[in-house]
Amino acid sequence: MRCHSAISALMALSTALTPAIAQTAAPEANPNGGRPEIHNVEEMRKMGGYTAPGARAYADMAAEAGGKLWPVTLFYRCQAVRERNPVKAPLPKPVEVFDKVYSIGTAENNIWAIDTKDGIILLDALTTEEDAKNVIVKNMQALGLDPKRIRIILLTHNHLDHFGGAAYLKALSGAKLAMSEADWTAKVKWGTLPVKAADDFYLTDGQTITLGGQTLTVLLTPGHTPGTVSLLFPVKDKGVPHMASLFGGQGSPRDVASLLEFRRSLNHFADYTDLMQADVVLSNHTVGDDGLVRVAALQKRKAGDPNPYVVGREGVVRYDGEWRACLSADIDEAVAKAAPGNFVPVLSGQPPKQSEQTAK
Ligand SMILES: [Zn+2]
Repeated sequence: MRCHSAISALMALSTALTPAIAQTAAPEANPNGGRPEIHNVEEMRKMGGYTAPGARAYADMAAEAGGKLWPVTLFYRCQAVRERNPVKAPLPKPVEVFDKVYSIGTAENNIWAIDTKDGIILLDALTTEEDAKNVIVKNMQALGLDPKRIRIILLTHNHLDHFGGAAYLKALSGAKLAMSEADWTAKVKWGTLPVKAADDFYLTDGQTITLGGQTLTVLLTPGHTPGTVSLLFPVKDKGVPHMASLFGGQGSPRDVASLLEFRRSLNHFADYTDLMQADVVLSNHTVGDDGLVRVAALQKRKAGDPNPYVVGREGVVRYDGEWRACLSADIDEAVAKAAPGNFVPVLSGQPPKQSEQTAK
């Protein structure tokens, strides 16, 4: 049942992502917000921009792994030139994605609300107080969720578009804020981190957080920031259980040491997606899970249709594989372009450091 629905979801989604050409009606506009897409190895070779042989091999592997299911995500993750186009999409309508698990974010940043009998867990808080009021609170009210019932706000990392609305939402609801110590104590470039109150808490690796019978497993996955956290948690789709995985940081760093750290974090995440048999991929950014296409598919979902976020074990393995291969492509491209001798071999898992160049 579970397996069958996962395979149907994969098939329905790959059909949705490859619109058939209708003779009579104009093809439906792709709801991805005008973002570029890479679907396969050929497109990767044209658009990826990698020049080093190793990087090109990794980018091919990424395209093979994930191009069918996450063409937007693939373009944004695996592209040597790092082209970034702003999304052109209206504010998505809030929607119940899994039983009592809601998507309530913007076209760029997805915010997830998990409703339990003892209150609501919110994943991230958008950029400003206005965003919190005009998007998070309004969307919750539209879904019949009382924002005053927010009990925990988990902040995946210390970038403003994730924590900016947190202080307002805490004042409104009395919720506890939670973020990793590495991120909460770091200096941030944009905005001011919320002051950690006595009831707020640090997120740690392997920690579990339970509210109203819902448990989330926290993983420390640095790379995007020093203390990015990722999450796994069980969900139900019309009563059928699934395991959701959400990696908490998106954009790749440029320097090799941070890219290596990111790849180790992705492996740590993949250990857990395997051990916990995750079969759902969620993201806190719509570029992280082709979210705009999936939310649009959910808005049109009819009884019996598969849930577009359920990608099955094959999908999760492909997602982790795509991302690992993209990070590897960036690592290889950067190292291959550096002058010979600039990197020392990786011993005992330590990232290579740029050696002191002594002019002789
Ligand atoms: Zn970020």
